[in-house]
Amino acid sequence: LMEEDAEEEYLFKVVIIGDSAVGKSNLLSRYARNEFNLHSKATIGVEFQTQSMDIDGKEVKAQIWDTAGQERFRAVTSAYYRGAFGALLVYDISRCSTFDSISRWLDELNTHSETTVARMLVGNKCDLEALREVTVDEGKTLAEAQGLFFIETSALDSTNVKAAFEIVIKEIYNNVS
Ligand code: GDP
Ligand code: MG
Repeated sequence: LMEEDAEEEYLFKVVIIGDSAVGKSNLLSRYARNEFNLHSKATIGVEFQTQSMDIDGKEVKAQIWDTAGQERFRAVTSAYYRGAFGALLVYDISRCSTFDSISRWLDELNTHSETTVARMLVGNKCDLEALREVTVDEGKTLAEAQGLFFIETSALDSTNVKAAFEIVIKEIYNNVS
């Protein structure tokens, strides 16, 4: 029994959603492999990456799912959301239309959620300050109104990418333990 306790495993599914080209795939590749691609093309088929972190001396694994381009056709399926304990809702701070879409993504997430989901609103591409269309305050206000965590990130220069994922994973861990 003691041995089982020591080897207790945590594996949480986390999904990344948001409009096409907001940087979802690059956030994941930056977090999981420290890679960034300027000309990333949508991959075919659902993909996920597994990433581990240490919380309270325990190894916690997150299986992080990327939509692999289905969002372009509004065809993200219920299978994608199934079993998710965490979600990153991503918009591009330089395109306000992607911010306006967040409420639709939130509705879709809520519709498909079977459990408490740790949710992080992510304003990506914060390196594009000169092209900013969504203020930090607008992001914060929406997050507060909807009960989401909020962070701005840059997959390009790595700002807050690790934090975005790890805050969600820690919250899931807190929710279940
Ligand atoms: P997805 O469709 O949401 O998966 O978006 P991608 O990850 O494929 O990124 C779309 C485009 O935005 C690509 O050309 C990326 O190089 C670019 N991109 C992604 N993240 C950032 C970022 O943080 N800053 C900037 N400047 N460009 C980014
Ligand atoms: Mg993608």
